[in-house]
Amino acid sequence: MASQRDYYEVLGVSKSASASEIKKAYKTLARKYHPDRNQGDDEATEKFKEAAEAYAILSDEDKRARYDRFGHAGVQGGAGGPGGAGFQDINDIFAQFGGLFGDMFGGGGRRRQGGPARGADLKTSVTIDLVTAAKGYKAELEITRKCTCSHCKGSGAEPGTTPEICDYCGGEGQVTQAQGFFRIQTPCPACRGQGRVIRHKCNTCYGSGREDEDVTVTVPIPAGIDNGMSVRQPGAGDAGPNGGPRGDLYVEVRVKEHAIFKRSGSHLYCRVPITYTQAALGTTVEIPLIEGKDTLDLPAGTQPGETIRLRGKGLVDPRTGGNAGDLHVEIQVLVPRSVSGEHEELLRKLAELEQAEVHPHQKSWFEKLKDFFTSDPDESGKK
Ligand SMILES: [Zn+2]
Ligand SMILES: [Zn+2]
Repeated sequence: MASQRDYYEVLGVSKSASASEIKKAYKTLARKYHPDRNQGDDEATEKFKEAAEAYAILSDEDKRARYDRFGHAGVQGGAGGPGGAGFQDINDIFAQFGGLFGDMFGGGGRRRQGGPARGADLKTSVTIDLVTAAKGYKAELEITRKCTCSHCKGSGAEPGTTPEICDYCGGEGQVTQAQGFFRIQTPCPACRGQGRVIRHKCNTCYGSGREDEDVTVTVPIPAGIDNGMSVRQPGAGDAGPNGGPRGDLYVEVRVKEHAIFKRSGSHLYCRVPITYTQAALGTTVEIPLIEGKDTLDLPAGTQPGETIRLRGKGLVDPRTGGNAGDLHVEIQVLVPRSVSGEHEELLRKLAELEQAEVHPHQKSWFEKLKDFFTSDPDESGKK
């Protein structure tokens, strides 16, 4: 959660910016990325949190000095505490900077204690091969997540009893303190922000209102997915407290290396070996595709390392399902490791024809090894 981007960079101010410049920069960003104006935009929410975190540090003289000296390491910890970096959720920001938002939007903080809140996002991963990644598939993933407690229907109270209003905060769930120019609202210590106290906790969930469930979730993995990409399945995460909506499930996809194909983005690369004679005389070769195969006509005089590009035979863009990349086929000319008999005779004739200087008939490796051990040591050094 804690961002590692430079806080000054986040707010777009210089290291020597004054307190009022920092406040102004933060207000501008907070207005731009405010969740009320960016409904459902996760990126905006992240930016909003990032700006709040930067502001929490840079608006505090002590913390700013520590950050200037030690960087992020100097200001870690204290999540959710006054001025601390690392907000657990967006409501913490409203709880902390409620006063500031009051200035901006003409209202108070908007924390609704004890009300429904969004459930946590969950993460899982899946490993697939390249062919599956190319085609896409429906992943069946077994996960454990929070669901509403079946015994108390999410109230957290044993059936037959009901939660009571908290005496300490009068059911508000929060208490207000003044600190500097902020009005800081912190969760009520007596009811931990719930506004209600459960005297007879549910026997199944012990008052949390939620229990674990093991489920199989089907997540469509789009064709063309690349190693390390994550797929988000909205609403497949934990159920929220007090009947809040489910968080999301993020599936990190790992794609195994393929024996033939290498991949770069949507492009595929492979090598096709041919013989010297095929290269010189021309040939038709079979080439592998991610699905099935194709044939390729190579003209006479094909050179080693020559690359043929087959447009659209790569992988599709997983975001759009279109814009398929290309398959790059590199021609490899194989040189036989050993020749003998008619094969060797013909090659020697060819060498004569090409007027190429070649070694006379070579002794085999074992013959040479034998020579090495039987010859005079002084002589062998000169060979
Ligand atoms: Zn329960
Ligand atoms: Zn309370």
